[in-house]
Amino acid sequence: MRRRSALKLLGSAAGAGMFAATVSADDSLPREETKRFYTHQEVQDFLDDLDRRARRPFELEEIGESLEGRELTVARVGSGDTDVFFTAEQHGDEPTGTNAILAELRELATSGSPFARTVTEALTVHVLPMHNPDGAMRNQRTNAGGTDPNRQHDYEVGSSDNPSPETQAMIDYVVPLEPLWVADLHTQSGMYHDENENPGDMYHSSNFWPIADEADPEAIELSQRLNVSMWDQAEGKANAQLSVYPGGTGTNIARNAYGARGFGSILNEMTGQTGDRGERMEGQMVRIMRNENRAILEETADGTLLERDPDRVEEIPDRPGFGEAGDWPWDATTE
Ligand SMILES: [Zn+2]
Repeated sequence: MRRRSALKLLGSAAGAGMFAATVSADDSLPREETKRFYTHQEVQDFLDDLDRRARRPFELEEIGESLEGRELTVARVGSGDTDVFFTAEQHGDEPTGTNAILAELRELATSGSPFARTVTEALTVHVLPMHNPDGAMRNQRTNAGGTDPNRQHDYEVGSSDNPSPETQAMIDYVVPLEPLWVADLHTQSGMYHDENENPGDMYHSSNFWPIADEADPEAIELSQRLNVSMWDQAEGKANAQLSVYPGGTGTNIARNAYGARGFGSILNEMTGQTGDRGERMEGQMVRIMRNENRAILEETADGTLLERDPDRVEEIPDRPGFGEAGDWPWDATTE
């Protein structure tokens, strides 16, 4: 925390004009008009509050800023030797991961639960809860420059020409960290997009592992273990289903990029974009996504992840295809 306070002081001395412009622009941005999803400032306030209340090792670090000058803050909790990294809301219209991972951060930092103790003793959990704050404030996929942050992960550390400074900040933080794995939280359009139409039994998430030719074989195996862990968590539980996300092979996508760098890597796509669902559905989505994230944290912390059979990813069904029976009603893959 000390580090970030110093940065903030420097920032306010050097960039007071930018800060004022950002604040007044926020007044008219779409994210300000909903209570269900965090604004960038609310994320910052949440993290500062945790920093005051944490009963475990907890640090905040500003790792960069967005195109419009919003802080990109990583929270670290725990004292374990093994580092794991979560990013959420690369796409600003996919805020469920931010809600889910902030709730987990609070538990890890402040709860006396066995889960929180086990995880924070074995691991150091690094979280970038709002990867694309300019997009988030507009409830839009891209950053303020119209760039998809999840197509810019193949830049080298220290690159100055990445059209997503948000993603470059993550690369510059994560690559030297050499985490055991990287988890990337998204949402996808899905079966039900109106709360009133939702029969209550189809909260569908889709996950995936790296498949790029460049991905490291051991990293792929670890990533498949993470997927199997989530599969066993979700399978057979009320209201939750899991399928394999039909994602591509590009190394510019986070899932492939960090696999190619030798880290475990998992994409987690919960169903429902910002406009798709009501409050009750959102609560279920956050609950299911939390359970999936907790499964990989707990199994990494207690070592059972490494006993997982990676070949069991074959048990996970494919996501229903566009136009097929039991249809997935959208064509796009929006990872
Ligand atoms: Zn996405």
